[in-house]
Parts: sequence; C-alpha cells; structure tokens
Amino acid sequence: DIVIGVLALQGAFREHIAHFSKVPGVTALEVRKKEDLEGLDGLVIPGGESTTMALIAERWGMIPELRTFAKGGRPIWGTCAGLIFLADKASGQKEGGQALLGGLDCKVQRNFFGAQINSFESQLPVPKQLEPFQRGPQDYRAMFIRAPAIMETGPSVEVLSEYRLSPEEQAVTEGRESVVVAVRSKQLLATSFHPELTEDSRWHETFAEMVRRHIAGNKATANGRSSS
Ligand code: GLN
Repeated sequence: DIVIGVLALQGAFREHIAHFSKVPGVTALEVRKKEDLEGLDGLVIPGGESTTMALIAERWGMIPELRTFAKGGRPIWGTCAGLIFLADKASGQKEGGQALLGGLDCKVQRNFFGAQINSFESQLPVPKQLEPFQRGPQDYRAMFIRAPAIMETGPSVEVLSEYRLSPEEQAVTEGRESVVVAVRSKQLLATSFHPELTEDSRWHETFAEMVRRHIAGNKATANGRSSS
C-alpha cells in the first residue's frame, strides 16, 4: 500500500481518512506530531481554520518539518484552509497571520466566498485530464465553506476547475467573471472546496494516483533512467 498522511491538528481530517479507506491500495494515517510525517508517501492538509491550524502546528513545532516535507517534493493536497497553507501568497488574513508553507505559485484570497455566503454547493464540470474523472458523472459536487478562491496562478500551475461568478458576485469583484477553485502544480494539488464532505471519491483517487506516479518516478530515477 501507499501511505497517505492527513494532518489531524484541526478540521475535517476524519472525513479524508474515511474516503481514502475506500480507495484500493491506500493506507491513510492521522498526522499529529512531526514524527508522524516520517515514512509518508503523501500528505493531505484538510479544511478547517487556517489560522488556528497554523497556531497548533506552531505550538507542536511542526512548521519546519512541514516545510521540509513540502520542499522534499512528496505530493501534498490542500483542501480549503490547506490550499491557503500551500499558496505562495494569501490575502485577507490578519496581520501577523498564519505561517504559510508555500510552494504553490498562486495568490489566494481567504474567505473569498465567505463574505457573501458562508457555505454553498455547486455542480462543476469534471476536469477531463484527471483519469479517475473519466469514470462516473461528468460533473462533481463542490462544497464551499467560507472558502478561499485562487485569484492568480503562475505559469507552473495547471487550472483544473473554475467557478463562474454570479452577476451579484461579479458586482463585488470588479466585474471578474470567474475564479479558480482547483489546481495542480507538479506534486501539489489544491482545491478550495471540500471533496471529503461528498460521496464522490474521485479527488481522493486523483491524489492517490499522483502519489503512485511520484513513487514510480523516484524508482525510475534511482534505476538511472532519465525521468524527463
Ligand atoms: N475560511 C477558512 C480559513 O481561512 C477556511 C475555511 C475552510 O477550510 N473550510 O482558514
């Protein structure tokens, strides 16, 4: 089995573990202290409250280890607050706000959807380039809970899903028509909604596949074959 850790300091970690238990070949573990990061093939940073999560992580001395984990190139998936953790830039946070991990060349706006509506759901078309989404319905349920939005993406970032803003939403975003809500960049996956709160495991299957590819790529490199 591949081993996926879910940061379990705060937020919706149990729901992620429950989903991964439905994906064949995956063992999912709760990560509560820095030692738990050892031996993981991939990590999920769940939704919750990013400032609180960061404070707890800081108190437990986990920020440097999380940064090392991120820099080491193992796959990480951030959902909602986890997306804020991964983003290189976040706006809308308090002065002296949470320590961010960074690595994802995106600018996110915290609580983008929270100002108007605290939580809502939307059916979005599936990202066709992700293999697990070729099975099953051609759209997926996206649940937004005081969710951040991705306002800018760098050249290394692949946009997977966008959310079209309503006319009322456009009125408060200077006429902007859509925001990005799911991206992939090398070994990082980030979603501003909560797939773990739906019945659909295809985002979890997608991440498991990224982890498997990462392991296969490492083996190829170790065998002296070029991975390029
Ligand atoms: N608004 C939260 C934050 O800024 C994120 C919400 C969530 O993860 N559901 O951390």
